[in-house]
Amino acid sequence: MTKAIFIILDGLGDRPCKEFRGKTPLEAASTPNMDSLVKEGVCGMQSPLSLGFTLESGPAHFEIFGYTPFKKFYPGRGIIEALGTGAKLREKDIAFRVNFATVKNGKIKDRRAGRIKSVKSFEKPLSMKLKGIEFILKSGTEHRAALIMRGSNLSDKLSNSDPHKIGVAPKKVKALGKEAEFETEILNEYIKKVHQILNKHRINKTRKRKKLPEANYILLRGAGKFKEVQSFKEKYRLKGCCIAGTGLYKGFGKFIDMKLINVKGATGGKTTNVKAKFMAAKRALKRYDFVWVHVKATDLYGHDGDPVGKKNFIEKVDEALEVLKKVKALKVITGDHSTPCSLKEHSGDDVPILFNGKGVRVDDCVKFGERECSEGGLQRIYGKNIIPEILNLIGKQDIIE
Ligand code: ZN
Ligand code: ZN
Repeated sequence: MTKAIFIILDGLGDRPCKEFRGKTPLEAASTPNMDSLVKEGVCGMQSPLSLGFTLESGPAHFEIFGYTPFKKFYPGRGIIEALGTGAKLREKDIAFRVNFATVKNGKIKDRRAGRIKSVKSFEKPLSMKLKGIEFILKSGTEHRAALIMRGSNLSDKLSNSDPHKIGVAPKKVKALGKEAEFETEILNEYIKKVHQILNKHRINKTRKRKKLPEANYILLRGAGKFKEVQSFKEKYRLKGCCIAGTGLYKGFGKFIDMKLINVKGATGGKTTNVKAKFMAAKRALKRYDFVWVHVKATDLYGHDGDPVGKKNFIEKVDEALEVLKKVKALKVITGDHSTPCSLKEHSGDDVPILFNGKGVRVDDCVKFGERECSEGGLQRIYGKNIIPEILNLIGKQDIIE
């Protein structure tokens, strides 16, 4: 066994739910395929950073893939999201995550412009050079986009303009350091200009006529500065690929120079085609040593406080796992953090993890879940232990001399 398939179910971990008489969604779910992997595998609990620390998905993935401490490597969400849109970044580029929003009479009416289907048509009119800074707008899915700033000596010490609220005015971007003052002025001028251009754009005229929220404003957050890191292949000498539906994870795959495999129907949403992703993973194993599959919706149900939805989605994932049943590769399943439905946000609780494949020290666990995995043979491990253990089990770990 020389290959591995690594499945991350985002925000998988949870806390006891009253809907399931104290069981978690994963414990309450009927998961025959995961359970059979558990029966012939070894389980444990995994903390992405350290027990009790709550992480966003970005930093959690840096820890899990061994780019640790994440503070040293994480370039900020804007950069990762920009890479996820397919943008090609240069050293020292600045990037923001962008939401197209609806602003009326100076106040935010909708932070997602009615979840407009695409903002691709805005790329061209909103990409321009202003006072020595090049602004490049790249569209993502629905209302999402990235804004790249290119120029000399730009700083990423820039605040968010997105207040994360409706009914209030968008904030101005503020310089968080003296070195960012000059560019901040130009950036705010750009944002104002964008508002004018968008108000006159034919798409918004049509949306206005149809009484749909106009996508007439850009809200920025997560400024970061691009710098290259050692690629996944160089770091682990594994040929890796990434199968993900959401921009952030595709962007992370790109950041560590993994091959991105696009799958039709992999939306990153609740209706995503998990089976198609697993089938693509099976095919990818022919060409890659390490296939990473990311599934987002478990986290979305957690944020929505919907334990039944989370349980049902986990069951859908389990059904789809059938296609990987006969695949001869090390299989690892975990989450990047917990997103308890009772909190509707991430928590510092650890997450179940399972390893299944030749050579693992099979333990007594029989069901994939928080309680059961706490009794598992791996006990408690950290995010940064996962890839080394994968290397160990597929026989590709170096001996330390
Ligand atoms: Zn996450
Ligand atoms: Zn989340």
